[in-house]
Order: sequence, then structure tokens, then C-alpha cells
Amino acid sequence: LIQVFLPLNTLGFVFRETRDALLNTETLFRLLRKQPDIVDAPGARVLQDGGRGDTTIRFEHVDFGYEPQRRVLHDFSLEIAHGKTCAVVGSSGSGKSTLARLLMRMYEPGAGRVTIGGQPLTEVTQQSLRDAIGVVPQDPMLFNDTIAYNIGYGRPGALHEEIVAAARAAQADEFIQLLPEGYDTPVGERGARLSGGEKQRIAIARAFLKNPPIIVLDEATSALDTKAERAIQGALERVARDRTSLIIAHRLSTVVDADEIIVMDGGRIVERGRHDALLAREGLYYQLWELQRQQQQAQSLERRLAQHP
Ligand code: ATP
Repeated sequence: LIQVFLPLNTLGFVFRETRDALLNTETLFRLLRKQPDIVDAPGARVLQDGGRGDTTIRFEHVDFGYEPQRRVLHDFSLEIAHGKTCAVVGSSGSGKSTLARLLMRMYEPGAGRVTIGGQPLTEVTQQSLRDAIGVVPQDPMLFNDTIAYNIGYGRPGALHEEIVAAARAAQADEFIQLLPEGYDTPVGERGARLSGGEKQRIAIARAFLKNPPIIVLDEATSALDTKAERAIQGALERVARDRTSLIIAHRLSTVVDADEIIVMDGGRIVERGRHDALLAREGLYYQLWELQRQQQQAQSLERRLAQHP
């Protein structure tokens, strides 16, 4: 058995290495397992004006399930007006990431449709859709290369000055300057030498460089210290400003400024509105954020105790 498995395993290792190097075009776009068989329809068009026109996002009566017998979204409708920010909150498994995956057309709805500026996603080329959307994933995929390479990946051919400008906009420049080799510092295997907050700022810098009209952001759930949280918050606000943005939000600080918050439960919108109005209802939103607030308080207490035992 060992004889059979050993060479296969070695081969797997080599394959993984090669694949990692080739993966580039797909990784920015991937949030999770992608449905493999989505191809451009015959006669598919480029997203109007290369995505520079109206980018109002609409989910129209969308039904969706990863498996036919288990529906995740039920008759789901949502409009995010051009240039506005919609924050999605809800308990784990309520369907938040699924919305992002459908918008990026990693999956197709079973019924209903998703449109951008009135154009159904099924009628636009996948390339133009990808070009129009900047993704900031929860755990950004970084390449075992330098900081500059990892940011510059947002727009191949970008000049060093442009990379630095993007890093500044993402509030990443400060921590990068402190690294031993600055922008030439290797990030390590999958960015192992950077913290979660730093990795996310690299991903935001990439998005600045790409300068897409639409932003999809999956906020990290991991605990950040106050300074890192503030830096990320500022960067997120700026990258989402004037772009049509779908944010899967885990932080109170992110949702308070959103144009609209939708609260999901079991694949449906159960509450919607702005922060203050939702809090005043004392419904699910209120409960979610009370819980979150208590967790944050407990975490910061833990951190303080760890620092000054
Ligand atoms: P979380 O906050 O934990 O990320 P979420 O609200 O983003 O959760 P989704 O990832 O959208 O939830 O998942 C919605 C439902 O779909 C869950 O019940 C989940 O188990 C299921 N699901 C998600 N991805 C897949 C998949 N690739 N195959 C099968 N089921 C899936």
C-alpha cells in the first residue's frame, strides 16, 4: 500500500505547487467552491460600458439551493442602487455568502435572476463581470511573493507608485514601511507572515488598484485590536464609497454607516433598514448586535488581561 501511495502523494505535492502558481486568474474571484460548468451564453455581451454605467444590483425573486432538495434562498429580492452600500447581517448559515456567490455568478439561481444595471448576469461575459467586481474575501489568498507583487496583482502592469498609492488608500502603507524590506518583503506561504488584518488590507489595496465599480466584501470575523479595526474600517469606507457595494458584515462599525442593512434568517430577509431604525425595533438585528457587543467586550477584556496579567 505504501508503495502505491508514496509516488502518488509526491505527485500531488508537485501538482499543488504548479497549480498554486497557475491559480492567479481565479483566486481573486473565488470565495468558495465554485460551480464548474458556468460558461458564457452564445452571444453574451460585455457588461454595459465595461461596467462603468449603471451598476444597480438586483436580485429578482431568486430561489437557490446548492442541492436540489435543500433551498438556501427563497423568493429573494433585493436592490442595491448604483453607488450605494448594502450590509448583510444574519446568523451563520442564513445565506449571506450565497448572495455574494450568486452576484459573482459562481452559481446560477434555480429561479429568478440577478441583474446589474438591468443586464441579467446570464447574458454578460464572465470576463466583463469579473472585471467589474472587486472582491475582498474574509481570508484573502496571498501568493508566496512580495507585498508589492501581492498588491500589484490587482492590476497587472501597475507602476510601483500606483501600488504605493493603493496601499496608502487601504491604510496599509504604514505597516508595510515598518517591515524589514518594505514593499519587497516576502509575505511567506499564503501570507503566513502577516496578521489577518494586514492580509485584509492588502486585499483592499488590490481592490483600490483594480478600481472596479462594484465591491463585494466579506468582512473578517476574527478579533482585531482597536487600532487595526479602525484602520480597516477607514479603508473599507473609502473603497466602498461611490461604488455599489455588497458587504457581508460582522462588525457593528461597518453596518452603522451602510445605506441599507438587511437581516437574513433562513434565506429570507426578515428586517431591513438603517442601523438606528433597526435597533429601535428590538428584533433580530438588535439581538445579533447585543450578542456581538458582548462578545467584543469579552474579547477586549481578555486581551487586556493577557497584556497586563
Ligand atoms: P456564515 O456566516 O457562517 O458564513 P452564511 O450566512 O454566509 O454563513 P452561506 O454560506 O450562504 O451562509 O450558506 C447558506 C447555507 O448553504 C448553509 O446552510 C450552508 O450549509 C449551505 N452551503 C453553503 N455552501 C454550500 C455548498 N458549497 N454546498 C452545499 N451547501 C452549502
